Amino acid sequence: MKILTLGKILNDYRDFLSDCEIEKLREIQKRPTAFATQAKELHRVLFDEETDYMLDSGGNSKRRSRGINPLSQEYTDRVNKKRGAFGVSLLGSNGFAADNSSGLFCEEVVRQTKNYKELWELKGRNAKQIVFVDMDDVLVNFQSGIDKISEEDKKKYGPDHFDNVPGIFALMNPYEGAIEGYKWLSKNFDTYILSTASWDNPSAWSDKLLWVKKHLQEEAHKRLILTHNKHLAKGDFLIDDRTANGAGDFSGKHIHFKENGKGFEDWKKVIAYLENLT
Ligand SMILES: [Mg+2]
Repeated sequence: MKILTLGKILNDYRDFLSDCEIEKLREIQKRPTAFATQAKELHRVLFDEETDYMLDSGGNSKRRSRGINPLSQEYTDRVNKKRGAFGVSLLGSNGFAADNSSGLFCEEVVRQTKNYKELWELKGRNAKQIVFVDMDDVLVNFQSGIDKISEEDKKKYGPDHFDNVPGIFALMNPYEGAIEGYKWLSKNFDTYILSTASWDNPSAWSDKLLWVKKHLQEEAHKRLILTHNKHLAKGDFLIDDRTANGAGDFSGKHIHFKENGKGFEDWKKVIAYLENLT
């Protein structure tokens, strides 16, 4: 998926758009509506083909349900050329979108264009966007703790339950680039730590607090949130290496740390992405 602004689409991708679509995009560009509204409007203009099925005749509807695209090859090729240029998935053989990549693309365009209502309201209040940062394997190098526990504990708890070893979280080193990354975030965003501590390991709860006090004393002062329900945290970005404990249902942008193909393999890439959005 390409990361583009609305201005960039209007300048560099005109060949894929009709005059009518260009006009509609210009209208969207002029009006700073709410984030979700703007993303939906943008989707309606850029990926109109995804609602074609609503206009299907009875015969076309039956063909589509059998996996046959009722639309002409010429139309499908033209639409897929545009989708390929934006880096979103091509239409499936039945003419349906294969996934939600076009929706995610539109959200990203709105985010990068930085002309939506919520952002203007934050600027009006001189407030910053909210970023949450996970601990294990984002701020903290989990493996460095495993390397320091005794062989006896390794056998007793096994690889699936190392997070239950008493005291293990106090032994962990910072993840590469994490301290510098968090400090940069805390200057440019309203930044909090959002982590989960093992329910069966009470020392994990206090060790996480002690780790934060040791490594991010000023920047994360009283900014540690421990929960098994990350989806309840309301903010703009969540930097997390997993989707567990509600991270996958976070309402803002999930910056999927270390996940292949997502573009956020390390802290440098995360900061390069967020630098454009301050
Ligand atoms: Mg984690």
